[in-house]
Amino acid sequence: MCLWLTSEKDGGSDTCKTLDIDFFFFHITTVFCHFSSRKSNLFVALGHGARRLHLSAAYRAKAKVSMSRFEPTSFVNYERLQSNVEIVRKRLNRPLTLSEKIVYGHLDDAHNQEIERGRTYLRLRPDRVAMQDATAQMAMLQFISSGLPKVAVPSTIHCDHLIEAQIGGAQDLARAKEINQEVYNFLSSAGAKYGVGFWKPGSGIIHQIILENYAYPGVMLIGTDSHTPNGGGLGAICIGVGGADAVDVMAGIPWELKCPKVIGVRLTGTLSGWTSPKDVILKVAGILTVKGGTGAIVEYHGPGVDSISCTGMATICNMGAEIGATTSVFPYNHRMRTYLEKTGRGQIAALADEYSDLLVPDEGCKYDQIIELNLDELKPHINGPFTPDLAHPVSKIGAMAEKNSWPLDVKVGLIGSCTNSSYEDMGRAASVAKQALDKGLKCKAQFTVTPGSEQIRATIERDGYVSVILSAVGGVVLANACGPCIGQWDRRDVKKGEKNTIVTSFNRNFTARNDANPATHAFVTSPEIVTALAIAGTLNFNPETDYLTAPNGEKFKLVPPSGDELPARDFDPGQDTYQHPPADGSSLNVEVNPQSNRLQLLEPFDKWSGSDLENMVVLIKVKGKCTTDHISAAGPWLKFRGHLDNISNNMLIGAVNSENDAVNKIKNHLTGEYGGVPDVARHYKASGVSWVVVGDDNYGEGSSREHAALEPRHLGGRVIIVKSFARIHETNLKKQGLLPLTFSNPSDYDKIRPDDKISIRGLKTFTPGKPLTAVVKHSDGSEETLQLNHSFNETQIQWFQAGSALNRMKQLQH
Ligand code: SF4
Repeated sequence: MCLWLTSEKDGGSDTCKTLDIDFFFFHITTVFCHFSSRKSNLFVALGHGARRLHLSAAYRAKAKVSMSRFEPTSFVNYERLQSNVEIVRKRLNRPLTLSEKIVYGHLDDAHNQEIERGRTYLRLRPDRVAMQDATAQMAMLQFISSGLPKVAVPSTIHCDHLIEAQIGGAQDLARAKEINQEVYNFLSSAGAKYGVGFWKPGSGIIHQIILENYAYPGVMLIGTDSHTPNGGGLGAICIGVGGADAVDVMAGIPWELKCPKVIGVRLTGTLSGWTSPKDVILKVAGILTVKGGTGAIVEYHGPGVDSISCTGMATICNMGAEIGATTSVFPYNHRMRTYLEKTGRGQIAALADEYSDLLVPDEGCKYDQIIELNLDELKPHINGPFTPDLAHPVSKIGAMAEKNSWPLDVKVGLIGSCTNSSYEDMGRAASVAKQALDKGLKCKAQFTVTPGSEQIRATIERDGYVSVILSAVGGVVLANACGPCIGQWDRRDVKKGEKNTIVTSFNRNFTARNDANPATHAFVTSPEIVTALAIAGTLNFNPETDYLTAPNGEKFKLVPPSGDELPARDFDPGQDTYQHPPADGSSLNVEVNPQSNRLQLLEPFDKWSGSDLENMVVLIKVKGKCTTDHISAAGPWLKFRGHLDNISNNMLIGAVNSENDAVNKIKNHLTGEYGGVPDVARHYKASGVSWVVVGDDNYGEGSSREHAALEPRHLGGRVIIVKSFARIHETNLKKQGLLPLTFSNPSDYDKIRPDDKISIRGLKTFTPGKPLTAVVKHSDGSEETLQLNHSFNETQIQWFQAGSALNRMKQLQH
């Protein structure tokens, strides 16, 4: 254990200094009470003016460092991590990867838990929970339904998803506060009552706030957002989950995760020139595709790691969600230490130094798959359109676009989002913009800048990146929020259906995600390449080789970008946008207006009848890609995230009907007429007819949107049968009492016809590992029997039988 005093030299902020000193005295008192004979050693250390005061390992058990400056009584618990790791290492008798150490280090029962990568389900005790405002509404509504008085682990709510980009940061934020007042009031009051920290609108994007304040090496955090893995850049295991999982953890119930496989990405060489951390993940996405990481943690290692900044590592982990990975993580190193110190967490860095063996992979550990990447050879990439794994070197994108008739003109360049909004990102983008400005050039395309947090906004403003460079080159600075990344964009420069190209530094580019226009071709790349392309105004521009023309006719090349990893001075925290919950919020009220359009208290789902499910109609047989965006669209629908009945009007409206290749046009088999998917589902429900959805591969990939599971259940769905599921969505369906099943033989998908009736048999003996049977009756009278697999374990079968995980939670309380 090492305790140390932060000084100016250490780069700690004033606040941090005060905290350090407070804690220092706390430790001194503790240490003196228990180890008075060692007093003199401590004074010797002080007397020599030591910058760090190292105490012997004997003190380790007594020293405590808080998990964050907001939670002074919740402590970093490396002892438990270490003790669990030792137990598991002994049991498995082999070296462990880093992610294994952190995951197994959080086991509920390290002695008895069955551990086999890719097969067993682990019962885990995450350290904390984070929720963004769109998903927090339903999570908090569910937590309220559980009847518990207070959350069991430190938890936070972040208001970032509901702010629409229209004019610019301040005006858009003011408008969002007005429009979403009811939701913000609900989240703020529910947070205060149940002990959850509340980050007000304007604070920044959840993952940036977590990186700045809550993530640290070895912590396990779950977040109700699929880009939660961003925290892996600080050596944390951060996993995106549905709200129902968050409710489990907040209720103090062990959280279940299928024991992840581990994909190792070995980095050699050094990043340089135009190549950035984003290119690492764009390249990996091209190799692994959107399904390649499913069920696995991607663990980066090797000598190349040290050439990447901490926030750059976060970028790489963030976009691990695009390959379906459970999460991604980097080993603890000096880049993380510097970042922790700069964000006022020098004490955690010092503690992590002491436990550094625990925070890196064991020598000789084995990965399920290894990818080798030489950063010296890596070139800048740009991926898209319509999928983040369609990787192209920037040097080839112009030709590819011409070949495929993708519009070459770049209409808008957008930098920011949780993926790429660090100080370094903004600095590198600004260094490109400055070169253009110096030659009298501005962006040909529209250009928007989304700072990741209030702290980043205030700091880049102070350091001249914003007004002097990014705004001057034509950029509009948006609110510290998700904005266009989640479709909160009042875009007016093109009409719906007009083919056009945008380039972003975001992570996702699925059809219509950013602007609800299915004809928008969105490409993802690094902020510096976005900036260069926005200046050039065309995809057919490679800043490594091509020339720009200044207004005076001078031809010039951009030199590779540069940017400080962290500000030379301390971060400017900007406005204080955090609301800490009171010590006792039990007397507070959380009000939900029964007339509200935005919020609705939850009614419990009906429990399983005890019989097989007979003669269900096929609501829709989905063709091709069906992400959670297709199942429960975002954009304008985000405002109904707290109102299950209203948001259910978006159910599957983006999915393609295999019968007619149309979206939101399916046959109502009771009336023979065609209608929208939610309308037909409501009609079936009102008529007492249960229904099934049939889908293709990787059904439910994308955001961890539990509404995509709640809506089908609310509208009378019972079973989702597909070729394969994305992990989070599959679990979300189980939590809501639905049956997610997969064809044992994927080609059986072709046997299902739109007018079939499907019965699921075998539910009375529903057991882990034992397939169920579908009896499919065709309208011509013929019948076939198909085998369906499932991944339910004992607990999850109890959820199904109780009607939902929440119902089961209530049963257990009584
Ligand atoms: S991916 Fe986009 S929408 Fe999701 S948290 Fe990040 S910025 Fe927000």
